[in-house]
Amino acid sequence: MLDGTILDKNNSLDADILCIALEENGAIANRLSAYERRDAQLDFLRLIVRAFNEDSLAAAEAGTGVGKSFAYLLPALEFALSSDERIVISTATITLQEQLYEKDIPLVLSALEKKVKCCLVKGRGNYLCLRRLSDARLEQSLDSEENEQLRTISVWAGETKTGSRSDIPFLPEPALWSRLCSESDTCLGMQFCPEREHCFFMALRREAANASILIVNHHLLFADLAARHEGAGYESMVVLPPFTRVIIDEAHTMETAASSFFSKGWSRLGINRALSRLYRKRGIMKSGLLVQIGALLPASALNNTIPKLIKSVREAAEKADDAALALCGTEGLFRFTQDYSAEALLNQPLELLQKTIIKLCKRIDTMLKNLNQEEGAVWEAKAILRRLESVAELCRAFLEFGLAIENSGMDNDVLWLERQGRTRTDSWAAFNLTPLSIGPILKDALFQVNKTVICVSATLSTAPLDGTGSGDYDTMFRFWADRCGATLADRELLYGIFPSPFPYSQRTLLAVPSDAPLPDVPEYQDFTVRAINSLVRISGGSALVLFTSYHALQNSYEEAAPALEEEGIRCLKQGDDDRSRLLEIFLNDQNSVLFGTDSFWEGVDIPGEALRLVIICRLPFRTLKDPVFEARRELLDKNGRSSFMELSLPDAVMKFKQGFGRLMRSSSDYGAVVVLDGRIFQKRYGKAFLDSLPETKTSFNQLDTILRDLEQFLF
Ligand code: SF4
Repeated sequence: MLDGTILDKNNSLDADILCIALEENGAIANRLSAYERRDAQLDFLRLIVRAFNEDSLAAAEAGTGVGKSFAYLLPALEFALSSDERIVISTATITLQEQLYEKDIPLVLSALEKKVKCCLVKGRGNYLCLRRLSDARLEQSLDSEENEQLRTISVWAGETKTGSRSDIPFLPEPALWSRLCSESDTCLGMQFCPEREHCFFMALRREAANASILIVNHHLLFADLAARHEGAGYESMVVLPPFTRVIIDEAHTMETAASSFFSKGWSRLGINRALSRLYRKRGIMKSGLLVQIGALLPASALNNTIPKLIKSVREAAEKADDAALALCGTEGLFRFTQDYSAEALLNQPLELLQKTIIKLCKRIDTMLKNLNQEEGAVWEAKAILRRLESVAELCRAFLEFGLAIENSGMDNDVLWLERQGRTRTDSWAAFNLTPLSIGPILKDALFQVNKTVICVSATLSTAPLDGTGSGDYDTMFRFWADRCGATLADRELLYGIFPSPFPYSQRTLLAVPSDAPLPDVPEYQDFTVRAINSLVRISGGSALVLFTSYHALQNSYEEAAPALEEEGIRCLKQGDDDRSRLLEIFLNDQNSVLFGTDSFWEGVDIPGEALRLVIICRLPFRTLKDPVFEARRELLDKNGRSSFMELSLPDAVMKFKQGFGRLMRSSSDYGAVVVLDGRIFQKRYGKAFLDSLPETKTSFNQLDTILRDLEQFLF
């Protein structure tokens, strides 16, 4: 237990007393083996305490190994104990959510010798809805495998305490689970639901309402913030119970997570799924909500008109999908710009889809009018109608986009299409509408209204991008803080950078071949393959090779893998298997090399001998094909700013830091990071990448010399 009063005479947290827990032989140290006191961790804790005591915003970059979760949990738990305010801790990944809830919080509470009610909240779609389960059991399914799964889930529902999908012993078919999970718009609520007493989700809400600390993910946090901002207010339960303080971990993902949350969209697949919920027919067998509802009505209520309209909507969605896929072309992406309105190809199918949806919804609405609205199937059918109506609304947004730009220079949303699906023949188009700027939304919904907002990550800052090598916090955090709206808030923002305690300068070699070509010259590919082959042969595997596109990965893999395999080095490639399975194979086979892109730049946590070499093939500039990123670049340029200096470069530097960070996951790790991109030395901005890394051993020589240096360093 901590000696002394943690709240001082001003009723503020006392950082000195909290820090004692993190000293050698402190309460935390005594509960961990091989604990080391870290100055950066103590400084970080002091910043968190300040943010709580001064009701302020804070942005903190805490390098790998600082021990950031203990440093924010100690003040947060103590604050929750001594006040009646609720604190939300939001993370980007379920892994971190679970680690906080299952390991870190219990350990800190045991160190404090205190009890604080904490609740892990997952999105409601993760929980079984008993009312929908009972409806699904009544409804005859046409699919025997689905029936089998339904039977098993019914048995499990009688045994589970959580109702959480992750506790089901198998992975239910997505289409089936979407019919069984809890949803806000299909929920009958505490007033009408016959299952309310046993409802898993309602039990979770009660638990959350009694907790002082909520562990959530960014999506859930944004869902709550959005609803409050749109009028639900700050006093009552919305998605989460009311709270006043927020800690956002993995905050470098905030802009992406918020963009995804605040986006709207639809696809032919989603429309078909909704229509199938309403009505489906195989042979003479009919099923769906309308068939259930039809049983309550005179025989003529579900005549041929509605099934025919459903068919028309399906056909119209098909046509819109075909046109959209044609626009996506070989790139698989298409953005609506001023030069293009839907008129050219999409106009007709979208208009048809919009009209048929409206017609169908009107017809079904009439059918439902005189029925008991609290009846489960009626309620659910109405929720589906609302979803279909929102698709019609989005069709209108696409149809009117060109006109809106012409009239008002509308820049608020990016409208774009993306081909999805596994193969070209089995694919569909997603119609997306994404807010162009997330900053103003988060400013109003998050930063302006909560007493304390603390954003934490291992990568939030960039070194000064002008190559001067020195700068203040405002400059170093500007990219992240501007993008996510923290600097727009009318409040002071506290900053801190807390360097990793890992001995990079002794245990890491950073190598950049001085003869590496620029990536846009023909020699680049040969150089890359030669370098990968030679470097991985020296390390004998234990290597992660990072690419910026799947196409580049595929090409290099095809050329490099055969020779490496001959040497007995197992070559693994993203896409060959599930991500977590690939990582497990890689972790357990030190003679392996893993070729990865996108998601492998971050969240790969492989300590020890399994990872001793990271090869970064290209500097991770975002592809110009990304429609949302491109639109955001254009907006900056249009406003007379430099999209390269303010967006492309800092974005790439942040990702580069993430890639570099894969190597050292514990203080005893060692190894090399090799960057094969000539732009590091040949472009002025290359220095910004090097300046953003901690001090390491370096080798900036020709590739042949680097190979010798690597061998010497590793062995
Ligand atoms: S209260 Fe809502 S989520 Fe719970 S069982 Fe009823 S309908 Fe389902």
